[in-house]
Amino acid sequence: MSFPANAKYVIIGAGIHGLSTAWHLALELKAKKAGSGKDVLVIDKGAIGAGASGIACGIIRNNYFQPAMRELMAHSVALWEEDAEGYGYHPVGYMQISPEVMHTDVAEIHKQQNQIGYESVFIEGENDCMKYMKENIFHDWQAKNITSVLHEKKGGYAHNTKSLYRLADKAEAEGVRIITGVEVTGLKTDNDAVTAVETAKGDIECEWVIIGAGPWAKGFWDMLALPNEIDIKGKDGKLHKGVQMWTYWCLVEGTLGVPPEYAMNNEGKMPPVIHVDSDAPLYSSEDGSLITDKLWGIYYKPDFHFGGVQGGAAPYIVKGDVSVDPYGIDSPDFTVTPEFVHMWTSALAYCQKRYEDRYKVYKNEPSGGIGAFTPDNFPVFDVFKQNCFMILDSNHGYKMLGIGKLVAKQILGEEQALLKPFRFDRYAKGELHPVSHSPFPWS
Ligand SMILES: Cc1cc2nc3c(=O)[nH]c(=O)nc-3n(C[C@H](O)[C@H](O)[C@H](O)COP(=O)(O)OP(=O)(O)OC[C@H]3O[C@@H](n4cnc5c(N)ncnc54)[C@H](O)[C@@H]3O)c2cc1C
Repeated sequence: MSFPANAKYVIIGAGIHGLSTAWHLALELKAKKAGSGKDVLVIDKGAIGAGASGIACGIIRNNYFQPAMRELMAHSVALWEEDAEGYGYHPVGYMQISPEVMHTDVAEIHKQQNQIGYESVFIEGENDCMKYMKENIFHDWQAKNITSVLHEKKGGYAHNTKSLYRLADKAEAEGVRIITGVEVTGLKTDNDAVTAVETAKGDIECEWVIIGAGPWAKGFWDMLALPNEIDIKGKDGKLHKGVQMWTYWCLVEGTLGVPPEYAMNNEGKMPPVIHVDSDAPLYSSEDGSLITDKLWGIYYKPDFHFGGVQGGAAPYIVKGDVSVDPYGIDSPDFTVTPEFVHMWTSALAYCQKRYEDRYKVYKNEPSGGIGAFTPDNFPVFDVFKQNCFMILDSNHGYKMLGIGKLVAKQILGEEQALLKPFRFDRYAKGELHPVSHSPFPWS
């Protein structure tokens, strides 16, 4: 097949958002008798899953302090459930296990989950939390200073590449064309609209362009000559001028080389994904030294795809000039360091006795990667230049399978209330999302 000179809808990026948008756009066009998947072209400079979606740990949860985020997640979880087997989705649930400093925030999350019908159990008080964890989840649970446990009965995690290939198959079955190995080098504009996508293999004229470029978001932001500093009206009503639009954080994740069966729950079954935050001092499981006396957090799950207990800790901000390429495990700069391994394996031991000497079997292989974050660390889903929809997920996004469906509908003229709180003009209007006490930028 020759390289296309035009396509009505060009989607840049074959990650979770590009592929989900492609498939849903094809379905919507067909349903509305306004075209078909043949009108949709996906291009990627690498391969399917070459970006963040292909290395994501795959956790799917609702636990967000921001009501608008929770509603989005509930929408996405419902889509994961529609084809759990096809996506490699394990609906094992998710637990947010927290110290007193986060108690009120998490209680509020639980209250609002009830209001939107998202099933969860909330345990309060140190003794009851310990009892709940030991009796219902892990008999060897031992984390102290925990005063609330939010147990989401839905959510869990999915196998990253399996879900992406499933989406690609669904899109192609509807006639969508996916071309990999095509790098976008620019966007041609006329009268404030994008008229063509410039690639190393030639220009592609289009009516709409949808960008799901994950960590490469800033590159496309620059192609559209959008501002690298913006003004934000804060919650205090004051205008904060010249705030940097993009910040990179490095996500630190790794795998403990125990058989996944080693990590099962009291019934020998897959446990929920565990996320623990703690303000207790964290000591090394290796030599007893103090690792931190500040708020820390980790998450983990047994994972057959990664071949062990896989998880991570709080990310860190990357300073200075950032080169996104080479990405992921190929990056010379942004894979995990021995400090992460020491902290994460010690935190696992702090939580469960069975991990006390398991630091010895940590899998020493490159892992982790960077994400591009917006000024408030929440997504921007919006149209720029009249016909360019940018899915700027601020690294929240593997779990957000449903964004593509919402974007497809919005592009075809159906206003989506779930997307509205994520418009770019929220910064100028001061319509910001509430901020929690979590040590993670994505809670
Ligand atoms: C280590 C790590 C773990 C994570 N874990 C989770 C998790 O457990 N749960 C969760 O919900 N989220 C997680 N995330 C966040 C999540 O992975 C991202 O938010 C999400 O995958 C972004 O999806 P995307 O489709 O926008 O981008 P990507 O998946 O990054 O896809 C972007 C694509 O664009 C292509 N591209 C870039 N530039 C060009 C160009 N010039 N021309 C053509 N193509 C181009 C790339 O090749 C890439 O394939 C994690 C992120 C990281 C880094």
